[in-house]
Amino acid sequence: MTVHGGMMSDESIDAVVSEVGPRDGLQNIARVMPTAAKIRWIAALAAAGLREIEVGSFVSPKLLPQMGDAEEVVRAAVAIPALTVLALAPNLRGAERAARCGVHRITMPVSASREHSMANIHRTPEEAVEEVRKVRKLCDSRPADGRPGLEVGISTAFGCSLQGPVAEDWVMRLAVMAAEAGAESVGLSDSTGYANPAQVKRMFKQLQRELGDKAGAAHFHNTRGQGLANVVAALDAGVKTFDASQGGLGGCPYAPGATGNIVTEDLVFLLESMGLRTGIDIERLIAARALIAEGLPGERIYGNVPEAGLPKGFVYARAAHAG
Ligand code: ZN
Repeated sequence: MTVHGGMMSDESIDAVVSEVGPRDGLQNIARVMPTAAKIRWIAALAAAGLREIEVGSFVSPKLLPQMGDAEEVVRAAVAIPALTVLALAPNLRGAERAARCGVHRITMPVSASREHSMANIHRTPEEAVEEVRKVRKLCDSRPADGRPGLEVGISTAFGCSLQGPVAEDWVMRLAVMAAEAGAESVGLSDSTGYANPAQVKRMFKQLQRELGDKAGAAHFHNTRGQGLANVVAALDAGVKTFDASQGGLGGCPYAPGATGNIVTEDLVFLLESMGLRTGIDIERLIAARALIAEGLPGERIYGNVPEAGLPKGFVYARAAHAG
């Protein structure tokens, strides 16, 4: 039984892998994946054991035709048992649409880089926090049994392709502001693959000092190949939830040939081989890649574990036994 909007509620797993391919991956691909193919893909991911999937983005369909079917995709995804369905909403209007179709958790981006924030959502970071406050009120106005959770990801938290370095103390201040505005958890996102492991460890430790149990997920892109190293650094800092995209889908619009988000298949292998239970069946997960090929024939996808296969004698992480 999933507790929507809550933190890790399942005793049988040690780390949450939150799949963002249907949102973050697809939004970087111009060719639209048909709605039915998206829904089949999401169902296959859930069947492989993924418990959290960010299935779409409630932005203007004119700006992002790929996300024009977000309502339909959310409605189909919330019917999948034991799956927590997330959707991104940049503003109150998007959040209202998401809440109406029964999404379990709304995720809002707040960019630490002023330039990125203006370019991306035409708001200053402070105005984006005000929008979080409005969405908090919206969530609270919903009946308790249909009240979505609300999380914030601080994007460009580790650097920005427009403004360059982003001050760490500003990122922390913004995270505190987002939590005070009503986010139940606030994570840090390396939207452009700028982060290094030392920085990741330092910043997530600081985030936990600032926010306690409201310190949220790590969201890494693998643009410069540092993604899994950053995961290990975040694990060292105590992070429990990691975003990833099947096949590293989406690439990077600024770096031809680079993957998008860290690859879910490789992340699950890393966690399981380090002794952290994810609840995910890697072979079934790899099989779900076929659904991307079906929905977007010829689209480039990535992943070392899917290419090489599981090592001989591989065993999944097991529960630690007391005594
Ligand atoms: Zn991202």
